[in-house]
Amino acid sequence: NRRYRKTIIAGNWKMNKTLSETKAFAEELKNLLGKPKWCEVVLCVPYVNIPSAVRLFKDCRVSVGAENCHYESHGAYTGEVSAEMLKEVGVKYVIIGHSERRQYYNETDFTVNKKVHAALEAGLYPIVCVGESLEQRELGVTMDLIAYQVKAALAGVPADKMRHVVIAYEPLWAIGTGRTATAEQAGEVCEGIRTIVRKLYGARVARSVTIQYGGSMNPKNAAELLAQPDVDGGLIGGAALKTPDFVEIVNAAN
Ligand code: PGA
Repeated sequence: NRRYRKTIIAGNWKMNKTLSETKAFAEELKNLLGKPKWCEVVLCVPYVNIPSAVRLFKDCRVSVGAENCHYESHGAYTGEVSAEMLKEVGVKYVIIGHSERRQYYNETDFTVNKKVHAALEAGLYPIVCVGESLEQRELGVTMDLIAYQVKAALAGVPADKMRHVVIAYEPLWAIGTGRTATAEQAGEVCEGIRTIVRKLYGARVARSVTIQYGGSMNPKNAAELLAQPDVDGGLIGGAALKTPDFVEIVNAAN
């Protein structure tokens, strides 16, 4: 599968780490992280620390991502940041539609779609998050829900832009709970997502799209999750805050 698509290990720092803590992390990372061979390593950090992170992580060959963006390129949106602004300061990836944003900031499938377009337009790589709640899983509608979220997020995205799109499967019940999906559950949904992409864009695009798993991924379970043929990386919250844990996960992907 590595012949066709990139493995991406991305940390999502959420609202964690001040500038000085970011500097300390980068120092440690420089010592611990070998040359990533197979996978691309990304850290998504709070807006305010992005320009410093771009500089600090350059030596470690770690790309910097944002955790959100606005869907307009500029205008009267107090407190917001556009994809264009992110691009200009050296951001490569941007997380779109994280469940915390859907839950706390009224992110909808509609705004997710608009943000995906804005990110691609600006030349960023969106990491589009989808995932079911525990209730939805128990009702047996997981794949229907995921299919809807994926289709809505990608509406109007042309096939030639799909090279830049990453999809992250993050079951809500696994995020920050310490309750990881089993490798089989993660593999099954990621495979289902690839099937949806195949139906939308054909086999070639489906084969090349990176699909990550996220939700309590840690050094103990990473290797097993990443061994699933359709799991092409991870989106990591808690375990990305400690340098040794993050490096171990990167090593599990290498
Ligand atoms: P977690 O977070 O690894 O702490 O569960 C994952 C995420 O929210 O992206």
